[in-house]
Amino acid sequence: MEKTRDIRYFDHAATSWPKPAEVVEAVNRALTETGGNPGRGAHTFALAATRAVSDARIAVASLLGIAESRDVFFVPGCTEALNLVLKGTLAPGDRVVVSSVEHNAIVRPLTVLAAAGVEVVKVRGDAEGRIDPDDVETAVRQAPTRAVICQHASNVTGAIQPVGDLADIAHDNGAVMIVDGAQAAGHLALDLSALGADAYAVAGHKGLLGPQGIGVLYLAPGFEPTELVQGGGGADAHDPSQPKDRPERYEAGTGNTPGAIGLGAAASLLAHRGAEIRATERRLTRALHEGLLGIPGVTVLGPPPGEARVPIVSVTVTWMGPDELAATLDRRYGIMTRAGVHCSPWTHETVGTGAAGAVRFAPGHGTTDDDIAAALDAMGELAK
Ligand code: PMP
Repeated sequence: MEKTRDIRYFDHAATSWPKPAEVVEAVNRALTETGGNPGRGAHTFALAATRAVSDARIAVASLLGIAESRDVFFVPGCTEALNLVLKGTLAPGDRVVVSSVEHNAIVRPLTVLAAAGVEVVKVRGDAEGRIDPDDVETAVRQAPTRAVICQHASNVTGAIQPVGDLADIAHDNGAVMIVDGAQAAGHLALDLSALGADAYAVAGHKGLLGPQGIGVLYLAPGFEPTELVQGGGGADAHDPSQPKDRPERYEAGTGNTPGAIGLGAAASLLAHRGAEIRATERRLTRALHEGLLGIPGVTVLGPPPGEARVPIVSVTVTWMGPDELAATLDRRYGIMTRAGVHCSPWTHETVGTGAAGAVRFAPGHGTTDDDIAAALDAMGELAK
């Protein structure tokens, strides 16, 4: 993958860049060659589009370890997927247990639901942003609980949460397990049919290397939240009620067909190259983490080197505020990071950076040894 010279892109956690040529070509083909509306009509292009989306669904299911592709729903993004599950599951009087390190994609819908009478019980993470299953178990056992909600990986600390253990705790206590997998998909090998989550929400445009505007919701067989929107789907058009069949139930209206096809191409690419990309990401993330720890005045958030994390290394420094540091890295060195609280004020509050936040370095599929060296050189120079 060719890179533009002197661009050091360290914001893969916001969105991965550049998109692989295979993804660009698939989106292009969807826009120019198979341009029909999937599931609508029986002419050549409509059938080609139907087949292409079905193939994309199968590729995504296979990559994420989902046994039946009908349990994969193409949605506009991880945020929409989480809204669907939370609002389609929870009713006034329900109680949920949620970690204190969630993104606003969970915090904000929960705020709406809390105002409507859902009880929200927060379990606090430790200073590195990890959630202890024992704390979740204690909270769940205190009163009947409808759902346990937790991210799989943090967009601030990179910490990986024990969501499989949390799913067991949820199920042992009659609750469902809802997981935000925005920062895990693509960066961790996933086997969702075995993980135990009843719902797992994924962004297509981050580690999965797909376009923006497409995400995936996985719902375990038998878990049937109420759909967020109702409308046309091609089948059973005489019935005024939303069909209950999968995937039609959760995909009313014309979807992001080019996005779904692009994501399918990304999933096929990751099926072949994912292990190699993940190994490189892990090696470079560790080198960045250890290098940053060696620079005077730098504090790295999250678990120590050696402990598993997704490719995210967030820092605070004694010599500059986060906004000034990110702006200086960009303007002077072409290093693109993200400053602030990363839509996760709860997480920053948990790890002690609630006021000004931090600067996040997020390497990804295109990052090289040279990029890591350039980032460490720049930080070393600024520290002087
Ligand atoms: N959860 C986490 C942990 C995230 O990092 C993000 C993206 N910043 C989201 C949810 C929401 O993803 P999207 O904006 O793609 O809907």
